[in-house]
Amino acid sequence: MVTGASRGIGRACAKALAKAGARVVVAARTVEALEELAGELRAGGAEAFAVSLDLADPDSIERAAKAAAEFGRIDILVNNAGITRDGLAMRMKKADWDAVLAANLTGAFLMIQQVLPAMMRNRWGRIINISSVVGETGNAGQANYAASKAGLIGMTKSIAQEMASRNVTVNAVAPGYIETAMTETLPAEVKEKMIGAIPLRRVGTPEEVAAAVRFLASEEASYITGHTLDVNGGLHM
Ligand code: NAP
Repeated sequence: MVTGASRGIGRACAKALAKAGARVVVAARTVEALEELAGELRAGGAEAFAVSLDLADPDSIERAAKAAAEFGRIDILVNNAGITRDGLAMRMKKADWDAVLAANLTGAFLMIQQVLPAMMRNRWGRIINISSVVGETGNAGQANYAASKAGLIGMTKSIAQEMASRNVTVNAVAPGYIETAMTETLPAEVKEKMIGAIPLRRVGTPEEVAAAVRFLASEEASYITGHTLDVNGGLHM
Protein backbone atom coordinates (compact mmCIF):
# COMPACT_ATOMS: atom_id res chain seq x y z
CA MET A 1 0.00 0.00 0.00
CA VAL A 2 1.42 3.32 -1.07
CA THR A 3 -0.04 6.56 0.33
CA GLY A 4 0.16 9.73 -1.74
CA ALA A 5 0.36 7.64 -4.89
CA SER A 6 -1.63 10.04 -7.07
CA ARG A 7 1.52 11.81 -8.27
CA GLY A 8 5.23 12.40 -7.67
CA ILE A 9 7.32 10.07 -5.54
CA GLY A 10 4.34 7.95 -4.43
CA ARG A 11 3.32 7.29 -8.01
CA ALA A 12 6.88 6.23 -8.85
CA CYS A 13 6.96 3.95 -5.77
CA ALA A 14 3.71 2.26 -6.83
CA LYS A 15 5.11 1.67 -10.30
CA ALA A 16 8.42 0.30 -8.99
CA LEU A 17 6.71 -2.06 -6.54
CA ALA A 18 4.26 -3.26 -9.20
CA LYS A 19 7.18 -3.90 -11.55
CA ALA A 20 8.84 -5.93 -8.80
CA GLY A 21 5.74 -8.14 -8.63
CA ALA A 22 3.75 -6.62 -5.77
CA ARG A 23 -0.02 -6.27 -5.85
CA VAL A 24 -0.38 -2.57 -5.21
CA VAL A 25 -3.00 -0.50 -3.43
CA VAL A 26 -2.63 3.15 -4.32
CA ALA A 27 -4.13 5.69 -1.92
CA ALA A 28 -4.63 9.47 -1.81
CA ARG A 29 -7.45 12.03 -1.97
CA THR A 30 -7.59 12.43 -5.77
CA VAL A 31 -9.32 9.21 -6.74
CA GLU A 32 -9.41 9.96 -10.50
CA ALA A 33 -5.61 10.15 -10.62
CA LEU A 34 -5.39 6.91 -8.63
CA GLU A 35 -7.84 5.13 -10.94
CA GLU A 36 -5.79 6.30 -13.90
CA LEU A 37 -2.59 4.96 -12.32
CA ALA A 38 -4.22 1.67 -11.31
CA GLY A 39 -5.45 1.28 -14.90
CA GLU A 40 -1.96 1.92 -16.21
CA LEU A 41 -0.47 -0.64 -13.81
CA ARG A 42 -3.11 -3.23 -14.74
CA ALA A 43 -2.44 -2.62 -18.43
CA GLY A 44 1.19 -3.45 -17.69
CA GLY A 45 0.16 -6.80 -16.21
CA ALA A 46 0.18 -5.86 -12.50
CA GLU A 47 -2.63 -6.08 -9.99
CA ALA A 48 -3.57 -2.65 -8.71
CA PHE A 49 -6.40 -1.15 -6.71
CA ALA A 50 -7.27 2.47 -5.91
CA VAL A 51 -8.44 3.54 -2.45
CA SER A 52 -9.57 6.98 -1.30
CA LEU A 53 -7.58 8.26 1.68
CA ASP A 54 -7.40 11.55 3.55
CA LEU A 55 -4.64 11.33 6.15
CA ALA A 56 -6.01 14.38 7.95
CA ASP A 57 -9.09 12.33 8.88
CA PRO A 58 -8.60 9.30 11.19
CA ASP A 59 -11.91 7.77 10.04
CA SER A 60 -10.75 7.94 6.44
CA ILE A 61 -7.53 6.15 7.42
CA GLU A 62 -9.51 3.33 9.02
CA ARG A 63 -11.85 3.08 6.02
CA ALA A 64 -8.92 3.05 3.57
CA ALA A 65 -7.08 0.32 5.47
CA LYS A 66 -10.25 -1.79 5.54
CA ALA A 67 -10.83 -1.28 1.83
CA ALA A 68 -7.20 -2.14 1.08
CA ALA A 69 -7.37 -5.28 3.21
CA GLU A 70 -10.25 -6.52 1.05
CA PHE A 71 -7.82 -6.54 -1.85
CA GLY A 72 -5.28 -8.63 0.06
CA ARG A 73 -3.07 -8.67 3.13
CA ILE A 74 -0.95 -5.55 3.47
CA ASP A 75 2.66 -6.74 3.68
CA ILE A 76 4.31 -3.47 2.67
CA LEU A 77 3.26 0.03 3.70
CA VAL A 78 4.90 3.03 2.10
CA ASN A 79 3.95 6.12 4.12
CA ASN A 80 4.73 8.60 1.38
CA ALA A 81 1.98 11.23 1.41
CA GLY A 82 3.08 14.61 2.67
CA ILE A 83 2.29 18.31 2.51
CA THR A 84 4.02 21.63 3.18
CA ARG A 85 2.59 24.86 4.65
CA ASP A 86 5.73 26.98 4.78
CA GLY A 87 6.25 30.14 6.80
CA LEU A 88 8.60 31.63 9.33
CA ALA A 89 7.96 30.32 12.85
CA MET A 90 7.31 33.86 14.17
CA ARG A 91 4.31 34.19 11.89
CA MET A 92 3.26 30.58 11.39
CA LYS A 93 -0.44 30.03 12.02
CA LYS A 94 -1.27 27.18 14.38
CA ALA A 95 -3.57 25.82 11.67
CA ASP A 96 -0.57 25.43 9.35
CA TRP A 97 1.47 23.74 12.07
CA ASP A 98 -1.44 21.39 12.87
CA ALA A 99 -2.23 20.54 9.23
CA VAL A 100 1.35 19.49 8.46
CA LEU A 101 1.82 17.47 11.64
CA ALA A 102 -1.60 15.82 11.20
CA ALA A 103 -1.02 14.67 7.62
CA ASN A 104 2.71 13.95 7.67
CA LEU A 105 3.23 12.47 11.13
CA THR A 106 -0.05 11.55 12.84
CA GLY A 107 -1.48 10.22 9.57
CA ALA A 108 1.57 8.03 9.01
CA PHE A 109 1.38 6.75 12.59
CA LEU A 110 -2.32 5.89 12.30
CA MET A 111 -1.68 4.11 8.99
CA ILE A 112 0.98 2.00 10.70
CA GLN A 113 -1.42 1.12 13.51
CA GLN A 114 -3.86 -0.15 10.89
CA VAL A 115 -1.40 -2.49 9.18
CA LEU A 116 0.63 -3.80 12.15
CA PRO A 117 -1.75 -6.51 13.43
CA ALA A 118 -1.71 -8.44 10.13
CA MET A 119 2.06 -8.01 9.73
CA MET A 120 2.61 -9.29 13.27
CA ARG A 121 0.36 -12.31 12.71
CA ASN A 122 2.14 -13.07 9.45
CA ARG A 123 5.61 -12.60 10.95
CA TRP A 124 6.61 -10.48 7.95
CA GLY A 125 6.23 -6.84 7.14
CA ARG A 126 7.90 -3.82 5.63
CA ILE A 127 7.10 -0.25 6.65
CA ILE A 128 8.85 2.55 4.81
CA ASN A 129 8.31 6.14 5.89
CA ILE A 130 9.22 8.92 3.50
CA SER A 131 10.98 11.55 5.57
CA SER A 132 13.13 14.34 4.11
CA VAL A 133 16.60 15.80 4.27
CA VAL A 134 14.84 18.70 5.99
CA GLY A 135 14.00 16.37 8.89
CA GLU A 136 17.74 15.84 9.33
CA THR A 137 19.02 19.37 8.81
CA GLY A 138 16.07 21.67 9.54
CA ASN A 139 15.17 24.45 7.12
CA ALA A 140 14.27 28.09 7.69
CA GLY A 141 10.59 28.57 6.90
CA GLN A 142 9.71 24.92 7.40
CA ALA A 143 9.55 24.41 11.20
CA ASN A 144 6.31 22.45 10.86
CA TYR A 145 7.50 20.31 7.95
CA ALA A 146 10.94 19.67 9.50
CA ALA A 147 9.33 18.68 12.81
CA SER A 148 7.02 16.24 11.03
CA LYS A 149 9.89 14.71 9.03
CA ALA A 150 12.25 14.48 12.03
CA GLY A 151 9.33 12.97 13.94
CA LEU A 152 9.00 10.29 11.28
CA ILE A 153 12.64 9.30 11.83
CA GLY A 154 12.16 8.97 15.61
CA MET A 155 8.93 7.05 15.07
CA THR A 156 10.66 4.77 12.56
CA LYS A 157 13.39 3.83 15.04
CA SER A 158 10.90 3.28 17.88
CA ILE A 159 8.51 1.05 15.95
CA ALA A 160 11.49 -0.79 14.40
CA GLN A 161 12.53 -1.75 17.94
CA GLU A 162 9.00 -2.75 18.90
CA MET A 163 8.45 -4.91 15.82
CA ALA A 164 11.84 -6.53 15.21
CA SER A 165 10.94 -9.74 17.03
CA ARG A 166 8.02 -10.15 14.58
CA ASN A 167 10.23 -9.81 11.52
CA VAL A 168 8.63 -6.50 10.62
CA THR A 169 11.23 -3.98 9.50
CA VAL A 170 10.62 -0.25 9.70
CA ASN A 171 12.84 2.15 7.79
CA ALA A 172 12.79 5.69 6.49
CA VAL A 173 13.92 7.19 3.21
CA ALA A 174 15.05 10.82 3.33
CA PRO A 175 14.94 12.38 -0.14
CA GLY A 176 16.78 15.59 -0.91
CA TYR A 177 15.55 17.87 -3.65
CA ILE A 178 13.37 15.79 -6.01
CA GLU A 179 11.63 17.15 -9.12
CA THR A 180 7.89 16.88 -8.33
CA ALA A 181 4.83 19.11 -7.95
CA MET A 182 6.00 19.83 -4.38
CA THR A 183 9.15 21.56 -5.62
CA GLU A 184 8.08 22.93 -9.04
CA THR A 185 6.74 26.18 -7.58
CA LEU A 186 10.12 27.18 -6.12
CA PRO A 187 11.56 30.29 -7.81
CA ALA A 188 14.28 29.60 -10.40
CA GLU A 189 16.99 31.36 -8.37
CA VAL A 190 16.16 29.26 -5.28
CA LYS A 191 16.38 26.10 -7.40
CA GLU A 192 19.72 27.18 -8.85
CA LYS A 193 21.12 27.88 -5.39
CA MET A 194 19.93 24.51 -4.14
CA ILE A 195 21.47 22.66 -7.06
CA GLY A 196 24.74 24.50 -6.38
CA ALA A 197 24.77 22.99 -2.87
CA ILE A 198 24.23 19.42 -4.13
CA PRO A 199 27.52 17.56 -4.72
CA LEU A 200 25.98 15.58 -7.61
CA ARG A 201 24.94 18.96 -9.12
CA ARG A 202 21.41 18.01 -10.11
CA VAL A 203 18.00 17.38 -8.63
CA GLY A 204 16.82 13.81 -8.07
CA THR A 205 13.97 11.99 -9.78
CA PRO A 206 10.99 10.26 -8.17
CA GLU A 207 12.28 7.03 -9.71
CA GLU A 208 15.55 7.34 -7.79
CA VAL A 209 13.62 7.56 -4.52
CA ALA A 210 11.37 4.69 -5.59
CA ALA A 211 14.40 2.47 -6.20
CA ALA A 212 15.46 2.92 -2.56
CA VAL A 213 11.91 2.16 -1.40
CA ARG A 214 11.71 -0.95 -3.56
CA PHE A 215 15.02 -2.18 -2.11
CA LEU A 216 13.91 -1.62 1.51
CA ALA A 217 10.67 -3.47 0.72
CA SER A 218 12.51 -6.45 -0.70
CA GLU A 219 13.76 -9.64 0.90
CA GLU A 220 17.28 -8.42 0.18
CA ALA A 221 16.84 -5.73 2.85
CA SER A 222 15.79 -8.26 5.50
CA TYR A 223 18.59 -7.29 7.93
CA ILE A 224 18.02 -3.54 7.73
CA THR A 225 15.69 -1.92 10.24
CA GLY A 226 15.44 1.46 11.97
CA HIS A 227 17.58 2.96 9.23
CA THR A 228 17.17 6.25 7.38
CA LEU A 229 18.39 5.96 3.81
CA ASP A 230 19.41 9.30 2.30
CA VAL A 231 18.61 9.82 -1.38
CA ASN A 232 19.88 13.36 -1.71
CA GLY A 233 22.78 13.59 -4.17
CA GLY A 234 25.13 14.17 -1.24
CA LEU A 235 23.32 17.32 -0.03
CA HIS A 236 23.58 16.08 3.56
CA MET A 237 26.06 13.43 4.65
P1 NAP B 1 3.58 15.74 -4.21
O1 NAP B 1 3.89 15.64 -5.65
O2 NAP B 1 3.01 17.01 -3.67
O3 NAP B 1 2.61 14.53 -3.83
C1 NAP B 1 2.11 14.40 -2.53
C2 NAP B 1 1.18 13.22 -2.48
O4 NAP B 1 0.60 13.17 -1.16
C3 NAP B 1 0.05 13.31 -3.47
O5 NAP B 1 -0.19 12.03 -4.01
C4 NAP B 1 -1.12 13.77 -2.61
O6 NAP B 1 -2.29 13.26 -3.17
C5 NAP B 1 -0.81 13.08 -1.30
N1 NAP B 1 -1.46 13.72 -0.16
C6 NAP B 1 -1.31 15.01 0.26
N2 NAP B 1 -2.10 15.23 1.31
C7 NAP B 1 -2.77 14.08 1.57
C8 NAP B 1 -3.73 13.68 2.51
N3 NAP B 1 -4.20 14.53 3.44
N4 NAP B 1 -4.19 12.42 2.49
C9 NAP B 1 -3.74 11.55 1.57
N5 NAP B 1 -2.83 11.86 0.62
C10 NAP B 1 -2.35 13.11 0.62
O7 NAP B 1 4.85 15.44 -3.31
P2 NAP B 1 6.17 14.58 -3.59
O8 NAP B 1 7.23 15.53 -3.92
O9 NAP B 1 5.88 13.41 -4.46
O10 NAP B 1 6.45 14.09 -2.10
C11 NAP B 1 6.16 12.79 -1.63
C12 NAP B 1 6.77 12.65 -0.26
O11 NAP B 1 8.17 12.87 -0.33
C13 NAP B 1 6.24 13.66 0.76
O12 NAP B 1 6.11 13.07 2.03
C14 NAP B 1 7.33 14.72 0.79
O13 NAP B 1 7.35 15.42 2.00
C15 NAP B 1 8.56 13.86 0.59
N6 NAP B 1 9.70 14.59 0.07
C16 NAP B 1 9.67 15.22 -1.13
C17 NAP B 1 10.80 15.90 -1.59
C18 NAP B 1 10.84 16.63 -2.90
O14 NAP B 1 11.84 17.29 -3.17
N7 NAP B 1 9.84 16.51 -3.76
C19 NAP B 1 11.94 15.94 -0.79
C20 NAP B 1 11.95 15.29 0.43
C21 NAP B 1 10.82 14.61 0.84
P3 NAP B 1 -3.73 14.00 -3.15
O15 NAP B 1 -3.48 15.46 -3.29
O16 NAP B 1 -4.41 13.35 -4.30
O17 NAP B 1 -4.34 13.61 -1.85
